[in-house]
Amino acid sequence: MITKESVLQDIKDHDIRYIRLMFTDMLGQIKNVEVPATKIEKVLQNEQMFDGSSVEGFVRIQEADMYLYPDMDTWLILSWEQLKEGKVARFFCDVHRPSKEPFPGDPRQILKKQIAQMKKLGFEKLNVGVEPEFFLFKQDSENPYSLKYTDQGGYFDLAPVDSSEDCRRNIALELQKLGFNIEASHHEVAYSQHEINFMFDNALQTCDNIQTFKLVVKNVARRHGFHATFMPKPVFGINGSGMHTNLSLESASGENVFFDPNSHNKLSQTAHEFLSGVLTYAKEFCLITNPIVNSYKRLVPGYEAPCYISWSEANRSTMIRIPASRGRSTRIEVRNVDPTANPYLAIASILAAGLEGIKNKLDVKPVEKNLFALSNEERAELGVSNLPSNLEEAIESFKKSVLIKDVLGKHLTEKLIIAKQKEWDSYKTYISDWEIKSYLHKY
Ligand code: GLU
Ligand code: MG
Ligand code: MG
Repeated sequence: MITKESVLQDIKDHDIRYIRLMFTDMLGQIKNVEVPATKIEKVLQNEQMFDGSSVEGFVRIQEADMYLYPDMDTWLILSWEQLKEGKVARFFCDVHRPSKEPFPGDPRQILKKQIAQMKKLGFEKLNVGVEPEFFLFKQDSENPYSLKYTDQGGYFDLAPVDSSEDCRRNIALELQKLGFNIEASHHEVAYSQHEINFMFDNALQTCDNIQTFKLVVKNVARRHGFHATFMPKPVFGINGSGMHTNLSLESASGENVFFDPNSHNKLSQTAHEFLSGVLTYAKEFCLITNPIVNSYKRLVPGYEAPCYISWSEANRSTMIRIPASRGRSTRIEVRNVDPTANPYLAIASILAAGLEGIKNKLDVKPVEKNLFALSNEERAELGVSNLPSNLEEAIESFKKSVLIKDVLGKHLTEKLIIAKQKEWDSYKTYISDWEIKSYLHKY
């Protein structure tokens, strides 16, 4: 339990000099205002203001002043920040208006609202465990963001083939120092691609953890002269990076309500309805779980990423898979999500879709066939449709959604559509290398 007194004590005991007040913008970028530790009283009294006018998805110039309310539970000393003297700590904050009301464009509070909806339906907790993948590339004086591989490793390789092993291990060690419970880490399928898994937690905690995780990965990578990227498909022709999202609901008595020892596959009716809801609304929330132009270059056949809206117990071509473990760890794995998603908005949207499935007793049948081997017509006969194939399609499906727009609220919905439409328009008119290579010599 973190209290005002324990924070003040930590500041003294650990010689904390600066406090980062962190929040997340609409596009999922972590942001912060840093204050000297001498200002802690003001921070703890919810009196720290900042100017939100230039933050993505925030407010117009004329109402730009906002307050940051620290969430006490998120107090953390940032071990990787090396000052000459003293240390740095942080809070994740909720954003409030000058009138002190919660700011409707704050992703963290949008998730909290959805969790409250879940509790109204009688579920105590949404447990979320993610599997973020990322690439490490070499930095050099000419190009800090090159595409030069740092290793020639493949799935589960060791050094010397996996020559980025030290960096990956140092990332895991740094995360452990921050209190992360690291489950496992490994080299992924593509050269220079890695995955580090940390223990699941409740939805809000996991989203905060994802934000911290990305920061640590990027900062430790830099110490090794590398650049870490969560871009979903940085290199054509090899695997991209996903962020598989494992979910289960818990009752007030601590039971995993996705588990039913008496059903044929040990999945409960609730789990079935939840995943049916997730699939039913997948097209509508894809803009949130796969938010950038590049996200759709990953969702193509042949690279272990899903393209079809279906589920199965083992088949990895489907959007939802049911990992083999049962009992307390019964869960669904949503495979389309990528690590550029704003985690708060992504989890809020998936949760809303799942709850809608429960409310309406939706029933989507599993597909055990390899969907990649079927034609579009055969897939249609099985009732399986495709995820959006580009950002434009995702924007269109999102615009038609009553549910997901309601989850995000009017403020964020409007801002997001404007930002994403702009991104698509800019991409659409850009002349790519592919066009130059394919056409310049020919026509
Ligand atoms: N990298 C794959 C993706 O894009 C996932 C590979 C895996 O199953 O871990 O989703
Ligand atoms: Mg993986
Ligand atoms: Mg997985």
